[in-house]
Amino acid sequence: MELPEVEVMRRDLEKEVVGKRIKAVVVRPHRNAMRVIRRHARRKEFADRLAGKKVTKVERKGKYVLMHLDDGEVLVVHFGMSGQFLRGTKRQALPTHTHVVMEFMQGGDLRYIDPRTFGEMFVASADELGKVKELDHIAIDPLEDTFTWQEFSYELSRRASKLKPLLMDQKFISGLGNIYSDEVLFAAGLRHDHMSNQLSAQEVRRLYRAMREVLQDAVRGRGTTLGDEAYVDLFGKPGEFQSELKVYGRKGLPCRRCRTPIDSIKVNGRTSYFCPQCQS
Ligand SMILES: [Zn+2]
Repeated sequence: MELPEVEVMRRDLEKEVVGKRIKAVVVRPHRNAMRVIRRHARRKEFADRLAGKKVTKVERKGKYVLMHLDDGEVLVVHFGMSGQFLRGTKRQALPTHTHVVMEFMQGGDLRYIDPRTFGEMFVASADELGKVKELDHIAIDPLEDTFTWQEFSYELSRRASKLKPLLMDQKFISGLGNIYSDEVLFAAGLRHDHMSNQLSAQEVRRLYRAMREVLQDAVRGRGTTLGDEAYVDLFGKPGEFQSELKVYGRKGLPCRRCRTPIDSIKVNGRTSYFCPQCQS
């Protein structure tokens, strides 16, 4: 999941679980389930801090989802490589790799599924939350209105880095991965190896606008579902944005803008796609 998929998940959770009270939480008996709640010593301690609480708000901080509870505590979730929530009911069998099930008083449940278990969830008090270093870093969030292109410009110029690895640096920008960094660079007309401190003011503005537009469009398209990273939403439905990708995964196919075949190159071990004509 990159940022748009996390935001789609947050919006769905907000509609589905805010106002609902948690009846019981089951952390499944297999060992990988403990890996998901690794900041807690025991299953029961995690479950007891959630049972009986009502969800009041669902926030996002970078790629972390924060579910606020009516006693002031917060359930923090990071989906890692392959984690996700699915809505379900008691009658529906749990999918394989289900690690945690939250049952609601109002009926229905929320399953946390994660084949590779790089994701995690933990309950924190307001005090503890302030000490979580992953939530403390201040990276640019392209879906928030709180950063200006002037701030963006300053940050780009002081980094002196190639654009593609910089866009994927989670300490610089939250939630841009291999797919959306390629799409953003294409939309901005910039190459992956263009240096961040050698951009004209006009190029910076193009990049700033591209980043916001591509990610907002991807949220509207309910995220990208590709064969290998089978992202589905809270209800098990795939995203639709994959049909709108301009360069990612399109090597050899004609550029949608100029018909030149899309090219690819390895950047830090990841395949990066670009149009040799439209991007400079
Ligand atoms: Zn082109």
